Amino acid sequence: MEEEIKRIKNYAKEENIPIMQDEGMEFLTSFIEKKQIKEILEIGTAIGYSAIMMANVSKDIHVTTIERDEERYLEALKNIKKCHLEDRITLIFNDALNVEINDKYDLIFIDAAKGKNIDFFNKFETNLKEFGYIITDNMGFHGYVEMNEEDITSKNILGIVRKIKDYIYFLENNMTYKTVIYKIGDGIAVTERR
Ligand code: SAH
Ligand code: MG
Repeated sequence: MEEEIKRIKNYAKEENIPIMQDEGMEFLTSFIEKKQIKEILEIGTAIGYSAIMMANVSKDIHVTTIERDEERYLEALKNIKKCHLEDRITLIFNDALNVEINDKYDLIFIDAAKGKNIDFFNKFETNLKEFGYIITDNMGFHGYVEMNEEDITSKNILGIVRKIKDYIYFLENNMTYKTVIYKIGDGIAVTERR
């Protein structure tokens, strides 16, 4: 297992696939352990790294994870098989915004298109158990969210930064949910019902 994880991390580095940073991953797995989380929905599988790490926390954890990119989805399938986790990780190949799920989860982990976080949140909050959590990765977006907007030269990046700021505003002014944003890894938001 250790070897497989090392190999997956190396592959991600070589292919420029933005998997969770070690610090963030450690925060997430400790959180799952501490809160006794069992049913997880992940938006944004990439090649299965974070899904595998979350499933590895405990043998009674089940992860459902959604990926829209076919090449990554196929790579994730392979990786999950190699880790013998196909019984505990369900992969869905589709755009998350087109997926209808009826099950309820202890944790919804949002780690997909950074400009769509509000859409993901609004779509999947109905799948959250009463005392469940929504965790969102990349709230700092590689430090760009903290930068002066005038210093951001890429229009693309600036667009995403503004969307992340909209999401922060949406979370902080939410009447139903309360959120704490941690400066861990690339920035992690932990949301729960008030
Ligand atoms: N959670 C992964 C990393 C995910 S990277 C890990 O840490 O190991 C983000 C992924 O989300 C990309 O592979 C991208 O293809 C996918 N994605 C982006 N928007 C999506 C959407 N609307 N539906 C499904 N997947 C999406
Ligand atoms: Mg991420």
